[in-house]
Amino acid sequence: MTHWQPYLPYNALNCRYNEIGTKGKNRNRFEEQLADSLRRAFADIGGMDFRFEHGRIFIVPKAPATVFSPEALEIVRSRAKAVAGLSSVSPGFLLEPDYAMLKAVIIEHFPTLYKAFMAQNPPQEPTYATRIRRVNKAFPMTATEMECDIADIILEAHPELKLDLKNANLLIEAEMRYHHAFVSFERVEGPGGLPSGSAGRVLALLSGGIDSPVACYQMMRRGCTVDFVTFNSEPYTPPAYLTKVVGIARKLNEYQKRGKLYAVNILDAQKAIRDKCRSKHRTVLYRRFMMRVASFLAKTFGHKALVTGDNLGQVASQTLENMGVISAAVPNMILRPLLTFEKLETMQIARNIGTYDLSIEEVPDSCTVFAPNDPTTAATLENVLEDEALLDIPALLDAAIAKTDIINPNTASQHRLEFSK
Ligand code: ATP
Ligand code: MG
Repeated sequence: MTHWQPYLPYNALNCRYNEIGTKGKNRNRFEEQLADSLRRAFADIGGMDFRFEHGRIFIVPKAPATVFSPEALEIVRSRAKAVAGLSSVSPGFLLEPDYAMLKAVIIEHFPTLYKAFMAQNPPQEPTYATRIRRVNKAFPMTATEMECDIADIILEAHPELKLDLKNANLLIEAEMRYHHAFVSFERVEGPGGLPSGSAGRVLALLSGGIDSPVACYQMMRRGCTVDFVTFNSEPYTPPAYLTKVVGIARKLNEYQKRGKLYAVNILDAQKAIRDKCRSKHRTVLYRRFMMRVASFLAKTFGHKALVTGDNLGQVASQTLENMGVISAAVPNMILRPLLTFEKLETMQIARNIGTYDLSIEEVPDSCTVFAPNDPTTAATLENVLEDEALLDIPALLDAAIAKTDIINPNTASQHRLEFSK
């Protein structure tokens, strides 16, 4: 949607959420986590106060400020989609629970809204809807009565307006609550889902591709905090590969409390696999090795599951047979949130979250360097174990773990991990 909304001196943000409202006793904790995410996403607005009201979080400017600036509202409009757990937010007017006042605010500001709407080029059809919720059931007017009353006033001034309940271009929304009334003309969509941090920590295998960043984001939307592990084969892969993955992790961290990135050099293992094992098994063997390293990190740092961007049948390594053989390398639960996605669906999400442009930048990754020409689509565990018997896996694992760096994606500061044995 192109943004045509005029500046109005809004004094509150009405933040809505769905699922978390239904979680009984956990509700407070979920609300706190959502509030944390909102604080992080909207930090550049400056001082904010939070008010929790049944099923809503209202954010108001910290005194002495009484209204949000145009810049603050732009921040809200552009960042709302980064707040997992938020279903939508409306900047608007928080008032006393008084119908006359509610009506007066609409009468005062609707003309500005209407003028900005009509000034759009190309022009849009002036359709409208009034949507009023009566939370306080004791309030003497029903929602429908209020809606009709407001619609009458607006239609009197602008008889050309057409009612469109589903897709109105001009939306007049209000809530008559117990302690407040709230009026708004705009809904900024959030991603929905659950607030980041509410479901525990997972470790995602993050490549420079399009899929794994989207898999990470899907996990965040369900409340997980995601740390990342990426594998390279420097000096065979260029340093630019790691730089690219750091950039993707930094982008993903906009959607959660900061996740860490582990960067592991698996050159020794890739060489050993290339030199000693059947080439058609290489891809599966590389992946099993990556899983072992990830499993070690998850055990060390307490991640509850591993995550990949695998998509059923998309490439040779992602058949049911091969995924089964890869999973069998480790005892961990492996989550594959994109398993059933269409590629176009994944690409659309990647664009929405801003990882697509980072992912399509061409840099060779460890798999392109060591990829076989004839990858099998149906490895069996038996055959793969025969190949692995030719390798000294514990030694290769130790070597890879000894070459693991921990990176803060947000500052790019990097240091070698020291493991006490
Ligand atoms: P992506 O777009 O995420 O790279 P893909 O469709 O290209 O996925 P593969 O390259 O077969 O598929 O990788 C499958 C999954 O294995 C990836 O989604 C990722 O989770 C993991 N993976 C592959 N290569 C690496 C790597 N070098 N570092 C970390 N994880 C990797
Ligand atoms: Mg890939």
